[in-house]
Amino acid sequence: MTAASPPVPSQLLTLPVNRAKLLNNVTCPYCAVRLDARSRTKEHVIGRRFVPKGKLNGQWNLILNACQPCNNRKADLEDDISAITLQPDAWGVSHHGEPAVDDEARRKSLNSLSRKTRKRVSESNEQLKVESSLSHGLKATFNFTAPPQIDQERAFELARLQLLGLYYMQTYLIDERHGHCWPGGFHPLKLVTQRDWGNVTMRAFMAETQTWDLRLHLVTADGFFKATTRRHPNANLWSWAFEWNYSTRLVGFFGDRALAETMVRKWPPEVRKVIYDRPGNSLHYSSEIPLRDEDDTLFDPTTGVAASA
Ligand SMILES: [Zn+2]
Repeated sequence: MTAASPPVPSQLLTLPVNRAKLLNNVTCPYCAVRLDARSRTKEHVIGRRFVPKGKLNGQWNLILNACQPCNNRKADLEDDISAITLQPDAWGVSHHGEPAVDDEARRKSLNSLSRKTRKRVSESNEQLKVESSLSHGLKATFNFTAPPQIDQERAFELARLQLLGLYYMQTYLIDERHGHCWPGGFHPLKLVTQRDWGNVTMRAFMAETQTWDLRLHLVTADGFFKATTRRHPNANLWSWAFEWNYSTRLVGFFGDRALAETMVRKWPPEVRKVIYDRPGNSLHYSSEIPLRDEDDTLFDPTTGVAASA
């Protein structure tokens, strides 16, 4: 590593749980543009309206300066992704267990436009009708109603921005008043909703990265926002994971893409069942696999810590 290389977080950052971290930075953490008094806006890396109202009061958040275009773009991503991730799942269950949050989620579903369907979130349930020939002479029709779905690319872009903000904080130089971006790319891997947190890719991801050096462990907003990053013990490769509003998890890597691909190729494939498969007309599905609490190591802060000393 040369002297010109940007700094890399070398140890686990311990975050005070009861107050926000403020940076008086002079570059935008999202696009690296130099900020001045005119272009500077105040930015909350965890949007105050991304989690339920008031959940960040007296809890950890990261507040810094960002340019207006990035700030606007991130707020737009947060709007419907917050409304959708706060909705109950396909079985009408919300996994945070707070009735007041369900009321707020209903209000948000009326006021927020799903960027995927271009309709209000409250009108964005996805209907799927399947007609199937089970055996000779016996036809069956299935109707599925799925809750509103997030546009996956937008969700990964929001995760990337949140990660940029957090990494910028971890590499922040007080004298120079700016942080850094990681070397290498951003490699999103999987987005899953709560009933599928135990799917084979998520389990393989947890098993692979569990012992890597923990570099960020963040649980805030009464658990409505969780984040973790880990560094491969001897390569320029990091894992990242977010949990949003107790309903959605996103995981991936950043840094050395070739190494990440080599690892992922060795994981067991996800099993997809075929309902029918005709040219131009097919329906495949994979069963959701729940995750038991005792198997959930994604945000476990006790593994991979000793190596960071
Ligand atoms: Zn910017």
